[in-house]
Amino acid sequence: MKKKIVSMLLAATVMTSLVACGSKESGTADSNEKKVLTMATNAEFPPYEYRDGNDIVGIDVDIAKAIADDLGMELKVNSIEFDSIIPAVNSGKADIGVAGMTVTPDRKENVEFTDSYTTSTQIMIVKEDNTDITKPEDLKGKKVGVQTGTTGDLYVSDKEKGIEVSRFSKGMEAVQSLTQGKVDAVVIDSEPAKEFVKQNTGIKILDESYTNEDYAIAVKKGNTELTEKINASLKKLKESGELQKIIDKYIK
Ligand code: GLN
Repeated sequence: MKKKIVSMLLAATVMTSLVACGSKESGTADSNEKKVLTMATNAEFPPYEYRDGNDIVGIDVDIAKAIADDLGMELKVNSIEFDSIIPAVNSGKADIGVAGMTVTPDRKENVEFTDSYTTSTQIMIVKEDNTDITKPEDLKGKKVGVQTGTTGDLYVSDKEKGIEVSRFSKGMEAVQSLTQGKVDAVVIDSEPAKEFVKQNTGIKILDESYTNEDYAIAVKKGNTELTEKINASLKKLKESGELQKIIDKYIK
């Protein structure tokens, strides 16, 4: 008897899900059902994206969420290696790449960028007692730690600069190699730098910055429709002050 009830229930469940699928396929799906906007990021970059327990949070996540809300879409966030983000966007695995990503001419060959949502700088971190590195030129002949595939990596890897580059998959690992004396300096984005310096002792950020950069959202080349939609949302978020509010929530 029990068995029979279970199998009847099972049959009912299968039927319901079939019906649900059917209605979706015939295009009469509940209009409340939101389309998903998939964001690829690298959750190792506070305050833009980092883990808080099981959640991925931060400025970029909040901005992407606000854009998704404006577009009537549901945001899904996936954390992958930083240098896999552009390939993920290009292959369609992700709709957008939001990762404190700097707009560069090289990247522009591979993806479309939305309007910029904030600016940043690359800075240098050294040991607190370091006196021989004070400006970018002083990195010549030195060992410098960077996160693989980032603009920091790009700048110090310029052969003419004569820098010995050590690459790490996470910015935090580059900073730890500095505290351990394995590298002489780290070149990284300014806000994550502040977070990493807070979490370690005996290191400091130099006053002089390396570059100025624009962060923007990466979209698959040719998907101009999505880029334009996001730009329209970004414009609203800028004009309403919502964008600044999100940034101020994380950067005091
Ligand atoms: N802004 C840097 C870049 O685009 C670093 C980004 C990151 O590490 N998430 O390369």
